[in-house]
Amino acid sequence: MPDKVIKSDDEWKKQLTTEQYLVTRKKVTEPPFMGKYHNYKGDGIYRCVNCGNELFSSDDKFDSGTGWPSYYMPISEDSVELVPDSDGVRVEALCKRCGAHLGHMFDDGPEPTGLRYCMNSVALDFTEKDS
Ligand code: FE
Repeated sequence: MPDKVIKSDDEWKKQLTTEQYLVTRKKVTEPPFMGKYHNYKGDGIYRCVNCGNELFSSDDKFDSGTGWPSYYMPISEDSVELVPDSDGVRVEALCKRCGAHLGHMFDDGPEPTGLRYCMNSVALDFTEKDS
């Protein structure tokens, strides 16, 4: 388990762009089909834009047609924390290391897990494999 990253709201605000801050710290959802990764096909790893924690592999990404980057599983047990969303309906996905809001998890995904991690592009930072 990686060490937790804990920062004040002001510190996050300084470190992040306005868009990153609103999505990851204020849980705003980016508009569909507008983010940089929903249709991205690169081979590599998606990290938390706030703390660098490894979240998802391109191997587990699929085209959900929703306009948001979608994965059927996180890259490790240290990646994503699932909690009940404040709307009382959905399951919220947070970075396990820094608590960044990433998106939501639904149970209508493809095999092998049947899960769909529906993420905001702006919460992610892609790194090409072997770079
Ligand atoms: Fe993080």
